[in-house]
Amino acid sequence: MSKQQCLLCGEYALEHKVKPMVYKYKSREFIIDQPAQWCETCGEGVINSEDNNKVVSLIQAEKSRIDGLLTPTEIKQVRQKLKLTQKDAAALFGGGINAFNRYEKGKLPVPRPLSQLLTLLGNHPNQLQELLN
Ligand SMILES: [Zn+2]
Repeated sequence: MSKQQCLLCGEYALEHKVKPMVYKYKSREFIIDQPAQWCETCGEGVINSEDNNKVVSLIQAEKSRIDGLLTPTEIKQVRQKLKLTQKDAAALFGGGINAFNRYEKGKLPVPRPLSQLLTLLGNHPNQLQELLN
């Protein structure tokens, strides 16, 4: 199969593969395995929305760790531990009907107060009753 042309350098050297990419956030660095059309000649990559969707949660998880917030996976784990659907959780904690879908997919960072509250409820799930009464 012939390779696609790189729009940056003009060579026919594009290949879809995963390459480690360094991200910077608040003067910290982390590495994400980034799928993209990578050019073997100039090294540039073209990231489409499908490629981006695969890493958005990983990037948010790293940012959350740096910020001391729950990661998308941790938010989902706490919500499930509390036996709440995404819709239930949004009705209880606010943020709009799709809020938990976005937090858990890493499309939206969880607000700090909510992250703190979910941390407490994750450690003391019986306390949820006080909020429901
Ligand atoms: Zn190129």
